[in-house]
Amino acid sequence: TDFATLALAPALLSTLQELNYQQMTPIQQQSLPAILAGKDVIAQAQTGSGKTAAFALGMLSALQVKRFRIQGLVLCPTRELAEQVAKELRTLGRSIHNIKVLTLCGGVPSKHQILSLEHGAHFIVGTPGRVLDHLQQQRLDLSELRMLVLDEADRMLDMGFLDEVARIAAAMPAQRQTLLFSATYPDKIEQLAASLMQQPVRVSV
Ligand code: AMP
Repeated sequence: TDFATLALAPALLSTLQELNYQQMTPIQQQSLPAILAGKDVIAQAQTGSGKTAAFALGMLSALQVKRFRIQGLVLCPTRELAEQVAKELRTLGRSIHNIKVLTLCGGVPSKHQILSLEHGAHFIVGTPGRVLDHLQQQRLDLSELRMLVLDEADRMLDMGFLDEVARIAAAMPAQRQTLLFSATYPDKIEQLAASLMQQPVRVSV
């Protein structure tokens, strides 16, 4: 497959083959080299473009599974999207033993989430309000986070999550990789990117 041209671990390549991901989609072709090189990336991409696998492969490649700390956070506008993203992360990451992906979304009780947070995770996928809530209650430690992904960033801003996103980002190391995916590219996305990202590479399909 043409995924083999990327610096992906053999186990990840095997999983892609098993899933019958033969060719990279255009967004994957354009973004994955920069993502795997550790760069900040702004990607203009619609649902159905294969954007989830693009950032999921970046997160899985950077994962140090023996370090049981939160290393990656994906913020999504809705619970439905967060659950899809978590599912794809787990599927693509199924060759990695003991990988733990936790969803933290609003609209469901916090109790189970609190218990899961006590047990730890490598990756968190969630909606901004609930993630911020756990952070403020000091149940979530983002001090060792190395990758932040904003998925459907335009929808997150439309839903009024700018303040939450900014507060969450303020609780993580400045030295990190930030990926931003958005279907549209209004000025407010440019401003968000300027406040959270460093010399981002821009791709669009
Ligand atoms: P997304 O745009 O991330 O919602 O992805 C749309 C669908 O495409 C998902 O069901 C993925 O499993 C699938 N997909 C992503 N990348 C590939 C690929 N390279 N080859 C085949 N299917 C893919």
